Amino acid sequence: MYDTIKKAAAAFGFAEAFFLAPLKLDFWRIQAEKWGVGASLHFDPAMTYPHAGCILLLVYPYAPFAAEERLSAYYLASQRGYFATKSLINRLQALGISCEMASVPARALALANGVGIAGKNGILRIGALGSRFALYTLALTGCAPSVAAPATTPCPPGCNACMQACPMGAIEKDGLHATRCMRYFMDKAEYPFFVYEVLPTHMGCELCQAACPKNALLARGTPTVEERAAFSLPRLIAGDSAAARTLVGRNFTGNGKLTAEAVSFAARAGVYEAEIRAAMENTPFPAVRRVAEWAVSRYFS
Ligand code: SF4
Ligand code: SF4
Repeated sequence: MYDTIKKAAAAFGFAEAFFLAPLKLDFWRIQAEKWGVGASLHFDPAMTYPHAGCILLLVYPYAPFAAEERLSAYYLASQRGYFATKSLINRLQALGISCEMASVPARALALANGVGIAGKNGILRIGALGSRFALYTLALTGCAPSVAAPATTPCPPGCNACMQACPMGAIEKDGLHATRCMRYFMDKAEYPFFVYEVLPTHMGCELCQAACPKNALLARGTPTVEERAAFSLPRLIAGDSAAARTLVGRNFTGNGKLTAEAVSFAARAGVYEAEIRAAMENTPFPAVRRVAEWAVSRYFS
């Protein structure tokens, strides 16, 4: 069964498939409660999915874009990986293998099973894939845990590249301080202004991964013409975010989130003042009005 599942996963673009033990993640739960994150994830996979023999961890790799791109290759790949996961579930079920999506903390479960290493930036690295992948988890019935993880080397002694690259000062010699990372402030459509001041890419920040020597040998990608068009600044500032939201997923991009980000990128570059003023008047979204008012007073007055 293992080979069948791995071959099916590879056919849908997954670089790795690990059959993880459904370990209880008490330490993760304590940290998540302390930081107020991960409420939708289950820290005890065996209790939540009692019929699962293991949790299948699927690793969907992507080629990162150049650090100066405003588009994140991760979020585009993450959406493609989501649909690949749905297709894989259908394929496995057609083969008589029972499985379902599992809402578990993928990174923490991987580490607990000895898959990969958390770098100083807190991000999971797995062997030659570096940290450039999206993760998905399935509860799999009738399959015992079986983990053959590739060797992953730890951070080189004295390496501080991620620490120096982080615009939030979130990484120190002892590792990541998650509540300082800008991602911590970006779950809703409105971000604090100090995030809009430094946000490098739509929906997140990958500067610590871009600087990491463990990712240096990975192939680079570039956005397609369609992706660039969907994320063009004037289009987003005008409120036309439908195509962009389709590419990166609609669940986390509502209430003007992408438009508000586009306003901040344009204002920092000193362009599209008229369009930003128009958005300030016409938008139905408080998040956009708020950032447009900030942008006009901070960059164009
Ligand atoms: S994602 Fe960005 S803000 Fe967060 S730790 Fe990495 S560099 Fe810093
Ligand atoms: S930049 Fe260096 S210290 Fe930071 S995660 Fe990568 S290897 Fe580790």
